[in-house]
Amino acid sequence: MNGIGISKGLKVLEIPYMGRQIHPTLIWDDEIVVLVDAGFPGQLHELRKAMDEAGIPLSKLSKVFITHQDVDHIGGLQEILKVSDHKIEVIAHKQERPFIEGEKPLIKMTPERLAGMFGALPAEKRKETEARFLESLKSKVDKTVNDGEVLPYCGGITVIFTPGHTPGHICLYLSQYKTLITGDALNVINGQLVGPNVEYTPDMDMARKSLEKLTQYDIETVICYHGGVYQENVKMRLLELAKG
Ligand SMILES: [Zn+2]
Repeated sequence: MNGIGISKGLKVLEIPYMGRQIHPTLIWDDEIVVLVDAGFPGQLHELRKAMDEAGIPLSKLSKVFITHQDVDHIGGLQEILKVSDHKIEVIAHKQERPFIEGEKPLIKMTPERLAGMFGALPAEKRKETEARFLESLKSKVDKTVNDGEVLPYCGGITVIFTPGHTPGHICLYLSQYKTLITGDALNVINGQLVGPNVEYTPDMDMARKSLEKLTQYDIETVICYHGGVYQENVKMRLLELAKG
């Protein structure tokens, strides 16, 4: 599959995962190629393929934005950095940095979740496998960003701090495309734009306040990591969701 092209310079990738897809986004101009979110661990092959099909090979990648610390967003990062023959800059919100770098434990990698993943292994083996897995999720963040910051890449990328799903979650607003990359602050389920997944959003009150913030932007297209592109009455739908 080819992913979803919105404009020249903006493409939503479709990376298969467990019968569904996740949607990292590619943004580029003549000089810079930006990837937003890095997929699950072990998805390098799929990511490379999707980027090739988009006509923007992984070898051209210059920056990776991480919207937040969850495993489906950071899992592929270390591998991407490892296979690259040049420096790729990793960018995240300052509050998310210590989690991505492994200074603080990832908030959703709870003992229960880890037990679910590795609990069936014999004790010694489990300890080692679990440690290796957690180590593979750590990457250095080269640049931290704040709310409202506009990065001068690809026509301008505005950082919107949208905590709730995680403490340092960000959305990215591309004014030239009137497009919002939501991370997991919003999802598309059965063709409808909905708020963050309640089960995986520890602070729903804050998440709702974050949605309110999004209503101040002139958004016509929304790209959700889970669910993809949504373009129907975006502003009205955002107002509805912000009201809760
Ligand atoms: Zn996610």
